[in-house]
Amino acid sequence: MKDIAIVGGGIAGLACAYYLKGNCRVTLYEAAPRLGGHVHAVTVAGVPVETGFLALHRSKYPELVALLDAFGVETAPTGVGLSIWDEDAGWCFDNQAWFTLFGDRLPAAGRAHLADLVARVIRGRLPNVRLDAFLAERGYEAGVARYVLLPSIAALWGFQPAEVLAMSVRTVADMLDRFFTTAHQEPFERVVPSTDAWLSRLVGALDAQVLTGHAVAQVAGTTVDGRAYDAVVLATHADRALALLADPTAAEQATLASFPYHRSTSVVHTDAAVLGEVRREYNYRVRGENSFVTWDVARIQGVATDALVTVGPRGFTGLIDPRLEVARIDYDHPASPPEAVAARDGLAALNGAVGRYFCGSYFGSTGSNECAVASAKRVAEAILGD
Ligand SMILES: Cc1cc2nc3c(=O)[nH]c(=O)nc-3n(C[C@H](O)[C@H](O)[C@H](O)COP(=O)(O)OP(=O)(O)OC[C@H]3O[C@@H](n4cnc5c(N)ncnc54)[C@H](O)[C@@H]3O)c2cc1C
Repeated sequence: MKDIAIVGGGIAGLACAYYLKGNCRVTLYEAAPRLGGHVHAVTVAGVPVETGFLALHRSKYPELVALLDAFGVETAPTGVGLSIWDEDAGWCFDNQAWFTLFGDRLPAAGRAHLADLVARVIRGRLPNVRLDAFLAERGYEAGVARYVLLPSIAALWGFQPAEVLAMSVRTVADMLDRFFTTAHQEPFERVVPSTDAWLSRLVGALDAQVLTGHAVAQVAGTTVDGRAYDAVVLATHADRALALLADPTAAEQATLASFPYHRSTSVVHTDAAVLGEVRREYNYRVRGENSFVTWDVARIQGVATDALVTVGPRGFTGLIDPRLEVARIDYDHPASPPEAVAARDGLAALNGAVGRYFCGSYFGSTGSNECAVASAKRVAEAILGD
């Protein structure tokens, strides 16, 4: 039986350990005192409040759904209303369902540009260039970015406007694809009752030595902090994986260095004053260069709570009454500029080349939990096949 080390106990590392179960001896190292990484609920007055995993579309999440099914976890439809509060323009507007009303808010040219973009997304014919360059080159009306693209991407992932504009238009299209092609036939779904309940079932089913609170300092060859294994799976973010390698190959160095991350902060709180006149499941607010997204937890999760989650730039202050803050969590999310899209093709070739394997959400363009789980499954299959 092979001796395998997995570094990182987020959903990618946990899923990999699950897929290797029964066929390998697995040791899983997690730096934090808890498992789950971004899949993280904070309990407020007895109610789990999700901070890193809100929603999924079943048809776009086949591997994650199979994993949920294996543990008898259900999903249930959830609303996708979006309010937009533009402080500079001095107005607020309301979408009961993403994309159904946006077009009406745009001038005729903007509606034509939006229709053109939708057609391109559906046909999948987009160049690998920055979103802002793509919009400028085609002369898109400014409102398409400000009132359609930026809020739609930010509302789920908490990116800042400048960060979305620097993404590859292909990544933006992948993220929008769920709205354009599935939103009207298939509801957004949430996990019932909470991700914590599902994670504890997954962790309980593992047959691995799990070392929480163990921040790995170095991976050299296939040793982890000096302990030798047959293979090592790095299930951390790409930048962290590269930093851990004492002896990166040229391919590991070049490929892993191509994945920058957005740095955001999520605040769990009860300050309803952050919301504008209209309150929807997802509430997008623009203030100068920054945007803030507030998730109405009661509506999205269908639980009785007055807790809200606001995602903004790393370390933001001045928006939420500090007395009403419950928790602050920093998250890093794959940024996906054109360089990362180009480098993604090289990721698969890293796996197994020198006894090291890599997985995580950066393997897929949207950086979702599905990307993390699917990449973990491919790693487990490769290890079992080697
Ligand atoms: C605000 C926000 C909202 C999101 N909403 C959704 C959503 O609605 N739907 C969706 O599908 N996705 C969503 N995502 C994305 C999703 O949460 C993540 O992409 C996914 O959970 C990442 O999984 P991962 O295992 O790749 O990384 P992580 O969860 O980050 O796990 C990596 C783990 O490695 C550990 N680690 C790092 N260094 C070391 C070390 N030296 N030694 C040991 N352990 C180490 C870390 O502590 C961490 O636990 C959201 C993300 C954000 C930021």
